[in-house]
Amino acid sequence: MNNLDCIFCKIVRGEIPATKIYEDDDVMAFLDISQVTPGHALVVPKRHYPNYVATPKSIMHKVMDVAQRVAQADITMLGAKGVNILTNVNREAGQVVMHFHVHVIPRYVADEGFQITMLKNRRLSELNLPMLATEIKKGL
Ligand code: 5GP
Ligand code: ZN
Repeated sequence: MNNLDCIFCKIVRGEIPATKIYEDDDVMAFLDISQVTPGHALVVPKRHYPNYVATPKSIMHKVMDVAQRVAQADITMLGAKGVNILTNVNREAGQVVMHFHVHVIPRYVADEGFQITMLKNRRLSELNLPMLATEIKKGL
């Protein structure tokens, strides 16, 4: 169901404006209000699910399918040389809007913007990797 107070549900219902780039029965994509690069888009399911891990697989697949198409258009139409596709799950990972969304961020130059190495710079040592792998595998 849609959530009355959710900003992305309001966009889906047409109650607040957004610069739409794609829409079908299940998925909508629109430009992020704060563009980190020109063309920065968000792809969302029309139904409200709080985040990626809480979204039914069939819907998640449809969202990721549209994210791939947007990324391809960034390259073919906007001249992007790279694209970041990312989704934040919960506040600890930086999620602010609690309606599943995938950021599709075209990248034009190898600048100092977000790179996965920013996280790698904080890399931990002395971790027991086999033990971590065992725990993750139990959940798969
Ligand atoms: P998060 O940190 O939750 O992954 O990212 C939420 C994103 O939603 C942010 O990049 C923010 O700029 C964007 N956003 C928040 N409110 C609005 C809005 O009303 N319209 C649009 N188009 N984007 C929004
Ligand atoms: Zn919502």
